[in-house]
Amino acid sequence: MRIALVGYGRMGRVIDEVAAARGVEVVERFTRERPLRTDADLKDVTLVDFSVPEAVPETARAAAELSLPLVIGTTGWNDHVDEVRGVIEGSRAGAVRAANFSLGVNVFYRLAAQASRMLAAFEYDPFILDWHHRFKQDSPSGTALEIRRRMSRSYGEREVPIACQRAGYVPSEHSVGFDSPADTIHLQHRARNRQGFAEGALLAAGWIAGRGGFHDFEEVLDDVLPAA
Ligand code: NAD
Repeated sequence: MRIALVGYGRMGRVIDEVAAARGVEVVERFTRERPLRTDADLKDVTLVDFSVPEAVPETARAAAELSLPLVIGTTGWNDHVDEVRGVIEGSRAGAVRAANFSLGVNVFYRLAAQASRMLAAFEYDPFILDWHHRFKQDSPSGTALEIRRRMSRSYGEREVPIACQRAGYVPSEHSVGFDSPADTIHLQHRARNRQGFAEGALLAAGWIAGRGGFHDFEEVLDDVLPAA
């Protein structure tokens, strides 16, 4: 597999390292100073965008123009989703996007949802704990909100509480708990670094090659994970 990175910041560099370890060739590294253009000389390459929200519509146009598959990891471009989807669907290019490409986190989402489905009718209080390093700005994290969104399918109007801790140097830790008078169930996901995002983005890059349409990472997981 051959990829071209759009954005070469923290994530671009980690993908570069993981790609080298997986035998994936990185043929280009586009940056703000040297952006991807619609006339780029690229063939048999999947574009992997971890850049800035403003760049995403332009990356999608280049992917469409060049008929290249695209993985979009950049976050914060929700206002442009319809535009980007239209560009991709009107072309021979395919795209897969996710706000979180970590396989572990995505499996964790499904486990939290599954546990909620089993326990919602019983006397278990559900809760979410979200612990990140002292530098993280947003609180709750996007991941905690996504966990709650999925649990809410079982809890309806009842809001699952989220407790946040912003202290220390922990990259990312999320727990889901269910507490009853008799016992406690605890599910935990702890990230060590950014490697999980890179692994998932490369998994998606392999999946989207040769496929058209605009997809969510959920569809990739439905294909690669055994049925629940
Ligand atoms: P970063 O700030 O370290 O890197 C961003 C890079 O994009 C910079 O090097 C910048 O020069 C480059 N850039 C800016 N404009 C560009 C353009 N027009 N063309 C090409 N490159 C351009 O950020 P990061 O930590 O690497 O994160 C990048 C994005 O990925 C963010 O939106 C972040 O939220 C997201 N992210 C997503 C996941 C996921 O799993 N989906 C995981 C981690 C981060």
